[in-house]
Amino acid sequence: MPERIPAPIEEKFRKRLEFYQDMGIDLFYRDRFPQQTASIAEEITLPKPVQKSQPVKPVSAPAQPAPKLNVLPRSSDVSLFESTNKIADDSLPKLIADIGDCTRCKLHRGRNKLVFGDGNPNAQLVFVGEGPGRDEDAQGLPFVGRAGKLLNQMIEAMGLQRKDVYICNIVKCRPPENRAPEKDEVEICSPFLLRQLDTIAPKVIVCLGSVAAQTLLETNRGISQFRGQWLDFRGRKLMATYHPAYLLRNPSAKGEVWKDLQKVMAVLGLQGKKSAPPASGQSSGKPS
Ligand code: URA
Repeated sequence: MPERIPAPIEEKFRKRLEFYQDMGIDLFYRDRFPQQTASIAEEITLPKPVQKSQPVKPVSAPAQPAPKLNVLPRSSDVSLFESTNKIADDSLPKLIADIGDCTRCKLHRGRNKLVFGDGNPNAQLVFVGEGPGRDEDAQGLPFVGRAGKLLNQMIEAMGLQRKDVYICNIVKCRPPENRAPEKDEVEICSPFLLRQLDTIAPKVIVCLGSVAAQTLLETNRGISQFRGQWLDFRGRKLMATYHPAYLLRNPSAKGEVWKDLQKVMAVLGLQGKKSAPPASGQSSGKPS
């Protein structure tokens, strides 16, 4: 019978492993399910194997492998999204009809209007927030309050208009007192969000705030650990950044968000807002 490690030493090891995990270093053991954990990353990373017997065409520049997208370790064994299959010929109108006058979770009791989402159904860029607030609940549209005004400025600074992008939330009904959506509410609502994202098929998803990011990435890591990095969401590029409501309380974080959005602009080939430079001749173009 192997000797048990004394409890204080075990605790020390546990703490040290947690520290490494926070640093993004996870695999100290042999991965027993390598295909399950790495499949998405591999699918989008590996170039197709070249058949030896095929004549190889001369190429002027070496083929660039697709950039590797990180996959964060999941906080739960059961994926929120795995059981939701892609529906053939799905569309936003179909989805709206399927949601109907939803009473699937307790959030319906306090809502005025269900907030489905808004914007270009063929958008290259989708913003995902947390859930409707008071203004959104009254109007039935996402991000129309104070945080929404800041989001609009951010979108415009990127050289886009609100009608060019698509905006939606993790849950479609307002949580009471603007509390964070609860696990059961997220679980019930997320298949609709997933269908929405699959239907729109954007090039980039930007998660606004930790609720959106932690839900889509199925992680309980703090957003500051992975904000600004390109991550994988079911084969799509995902970037998490701070929520505009957080920026209203912490304006000094706007610079970090602007850096994240500039990475998104680079991928989408956007130049940013062409604004007249101020008198000093220095224009960062970032939302003020
Ligand atoms: N905050 C969100 O997360 N979503 C909204 O629609 C509005 C505010």
